[in-house]
Order: sequence, then C-alpha cells, then structure tokens
Amino acid sequence: MEACLLSSSSSYSLGNTKSLSRSCSRTYPHIIFVSGIRRSSNRWTRLSVTSSFRPTAVENSTFDVVVVGAGIIGLTVARRFLMTTNLSVAVVDAGVPCSGATGAGQGYIWMTHKTPGSETWDLCNRSKKLWEDLVDELRFHGVDPSQELGWKKTGSLLIGRTPEESEMLASRVKLLSEADLRAEFLSAGSLAAEEPSLQVGRDWSAAFVPDDCQIDAQLAVDFIEKGNRSSGLQGRYKEFFHEPVISLVRSDYGGEVVGVQTSKNILYCEQALVVATGAWSGSLIQDLFKGLNISFSVPVIPRKGYLVILENFQKMQLNHGIMEFGYVDHQIISRSSNLSASGVSECEKLSISMTATTDATGNLLLGSSRQFIGFDNGMDESIVNCILDRAQQFFPALRDLPRQDMLRSRKIRIGFRPYMHDGKPIIGPVPGLPKMILAAGHEGGGLTMALGTAEMVVDMVLNNVPKVDPTPYSLQGRCCS
Ligand SMILES: Cc1cc2nc3c(=O)[nH]c(=O)nc-3n(C[C@H](O)[C@H](O)[C@H](O)COP(=O)(O)OP(=O)(O)OC[C@H]3O[C@@H](n4cnc5c(N)ncnc54)[C@H](O)[C@@H]3O)c2cc1C
Repeated sequence: MEACLLSSSSSYSLGNTKSLSRSCSRTYPHIIFVSGIRRSSNRWTRLSVTSSFRPTAVENSTFDVVVVGAGIIGLTVARRFLMTTNLSVAVVDAGVPCSGATGAGQGYIWMTHKTPGSETWDLCNRSKKLWEDLVDELRFHGVDPSQELGWKKTGSLLIGRTPEESEMLASRVKLLSEADLRAEFLSAGSLAAEEPSLQVGRDWSAAFVPDDCQIDAQLAVDFIEKGNRSSGLQGRYKEFFHEPVISLVRSDYGGEVVGVQTSKNILYCEQALVVATGAWSGSLIQDLFKGLNISFSVPVIPRKGYLVILENFQKMQLNHGIMEFGYVDHQIISRSSNLSASGVSECEKLSISMTATTDATGNLLLGSSRQFIGFDNGMDESIVNCILDRAQQFFPALRDLPRQDMLRSRKIRIGFRPYMHDGKPIIGPVPGLPKMILAAGHEGGGLTMALGTAEMVVDMVLNNVPKVDPTPYSLQGRCCS
C-alpha cells in the first residue's frame, strides 16, 4: 500500500508497515469560487470562479455529505450517516484508508488508563459501548467479530512497579469501580498468576479491567469500508482516493462552504462537509482558509509513533493487554525542559512507554513511542531498540531471545497521532461556517473514540439530542476566540 499526500507547504508521504515514501508534486490550495448557477437541495446557489487553477479531469458530483479523510474517524462518520440516515456520502482521501495514524494503531479499546470524570471519559465510555454493540450485532447475524474486526475481549492490565504507583493504582481502581466499571486491584502475587508472561517484582501491582477489548485497526477499517461500499450499490456512497483536497468551494452569497476541490474533482456537499484529516487537520485548515477573513486555526500537530510487531511470536502469548503506568514512568530520553520554538518542551520530544498486546493472529504488538518531529516519516532503528529494551524490562521471554532473532521477524508501523495540547479532540462546526464540521485531534485514542465521535458528528448535522455532551470538544475558545 503506497500513499502520498499533497499540501501547499510541502509534499510528504505517509508511513506504516506497508506504505513507503513516494515524492509527490506540489499543489497549491486556494479558495475556489465557481461561476454559474448550481442546484442546491431547495434553492439555487450562485457560484463564481476566481481561481486560475483548473483540475485536469473534472467530474462534478453532489452529495449530501462529503467527508475528508479516510482514517478511522472519517470512515466511521461516513458509516454512521449511511447506516442511520438516507443521506448520500462521499469520502475523499489524499491516500487510501489506513495511510494515516489509523494504519499504525495498536487497537486497544481500553478504559483502564482513562480517568472517570475527565473531559474525555463520557466519549470514550460511549464509544466503547458502541464497539460492543457492533460486536453483539455481528454475533447476532452469525458473523465472527474476531475474524471481521480482530476483536478480542482480553481485559487490560495497567502495571505499576513502585509502592507509589501501587497506591495510585488502588485509587484508580476505586474510581473506576465507582464509575460502574468492573475493575480489580491486583497485588504482585495475583498479577503474576493472572499474567505469567510478566516477571513480577515484589512492589509490582496492577489495575485490572476485565471488560477492556481490542480490535485490529486494519481489519476494522476493511470491515467498515466494505459496509460503506455496500451502501454504494444504492448510489449513496462514493470514494475518492489518492485525491487530496486542495481548496474550499464557497458560495458567493455569504461565503457558505458548498464543497471542496480535490486534485481531480469538485465535490459539492448539500448538508455537511466533515473534515477528519487527523494530524494533517491543522495544516490543511490553514491552507484552506488562506485569504479568508476568518480568524481560525486548528492547533492539531503530528505526534509520531512507532509500533513494533513480532510476527507469529511463539515464545510468549499474553492473556491480557498490558500497559505500564503513567507517563511519569516513561523512558524519557531528552530531559531538558527548554521550550522549543514550537512551544513543545524538549523532554516531550521522545518518550517510550511499554504497551503489549497479542493480536487475533498471534502477532505480538509492542508499543510505543511518542515524538514531536513534524511529518518526518523516516525510520530510526534506535527507537525500535528503545521499545524492545523497554519491553524486556517486563517480559523475560524477550530477554532470553537474541536481539537479532527478534529483529528478523519484526515489522514496524509508523503513524502520526493527531495531538491536541489539551488532550481532547476537536469535534464541532466551524464558527461562521456551520456546514463545515471538524473531527480531529484524537491523539492516542482515535480507535477507541471513533464510533462515539461519529455518532456525535451525525447528531450535530441532524440536530439530534446528543448522547454525549459535545461542549468539551467545541472549537470555540480552542481554535478561535
Ligand atoms: C503507534 C500508534 C498506536 C496507536 N494505538 C492506538 C490504540 O491502541 N487505541 C486507540 O484508540 N488509538 C491508538 N492510536 C491512535 C489512533 O491511531 C489515532 O487516534 C487515529 O487513527 C486517528 O484517526 P484519524 O482518522 O483522525 O486520522 P488518520 O488515521 O491519520 O487519518 C487521516 C486521513 O486524512 C487524510 N488526509 C490528510 N490530508 C488530506 C487532504 N488534504 N485531503 C484528503 N485527505 C487528507 C490522510 O491521508 C489520512 O488517511 C495509535 C496511534 C499510533 C501512531
């Protein structure tokens, strides 16, 4: 799978195991005003051309909803529209599904590291419930969710290694239980019995959430796409891949957004334009809004992450998904706290924290790194080694194996998490452009939050009563004053 993106500021490629870099020509986004008269659902919208740019193969198409970005967020938004409304939907992507962060995702749908009462709690909780509902529905129809989604209900263990962490884990278990989640505190002995693959130290302990689950991100995307495409048979769905969006199309009556210009097509939207372009949302919006008299910026930036996959790993199988406790215990390579020009502290630039899962086919997935390095998708072998070193501190089976043997069967996935400095995604209409909705900035929790985000977006467009309060995710005060 090979994918490339075009942006005004740079040409770049996306990386995961299957996608390698490819250079792309530069394209310059700008706002397009198309002249003439086009039909809108219940009125005529006058548009005028002011752009010198002409697409090479124009195919004008009108949909109720255009979704930009075919990561887990864009695809699940499209799915929700297709499953719960009669609206027609187009999905457009600069590359292909899974060419962004989604393709690198480890796949845990966990609550164990989420904090009850925090601003993302309700969305995560609702979203997890929607994943579980989907799994129940598949089972009801005789479909195996482990085949279709890589679904496993493994439970999760959040592991502490010091008496202080143990104390914090005990409080966390109390909080999770009070929030009606099944959660259990495991002391060292119980932890060793629950997860024999760990070498448990005397001070170790864990918060155990037995109902936590995992998916295989790439399988889940295939499944969602297959479902979306089946709606295409009724003429309600169309995909436009390898077509970066380069401009907005706006009505000359009040400048309402009426569509987007891709590298090949103009796609009109009658009800909504949903922008779900993950880590690229900040730069894309900046490009699209250039020349507009709107004071608006999306502070989503890329946070690069590696996942190491040891294929068909026989030496160790995990009973549960495992994550080490908190960022305080992460291996932070650069410790200087100087703020760089980007406002990101140096010590934030690279951190490694141990996560481990076994997927539905027996691969061992080891995570993960976090790094602010822009959209540089190069592969740095030292980061792979840091992830393996970290995992070795927990799993003796990895210590016993020569590093070269381990590396022989390894695959690396790299993705750019869409990072928001306040730890919450942005989900909501752009002030002044109500048809345009953003859904981005899910950082390391986009797989978990996808179905809840999709529900929230669709409820916004249809003016339904929201299931989860969208206020914390509003753009107001975060992207504009
Ligand atoms: C190593 C790693 C492990 C992770 N593990 C987990 C996990 O276990 N659980 C979890 O919940 N989350 C996890 N995440 C986070 C999760 O993967 C992300 O939050 C999620 O994938 C974000 O989805 P998205 O759809 O917003 O973005 P993306 O998947 O990045 O999709 C954005 C899409 O927008 C497209 N695009 C960009 N610019 C344009 C343009 N101009 N025109 C058209 N299309 C454009 C891109 O091609 C891309 O396909 C992990 C992330 C990483 C990196």
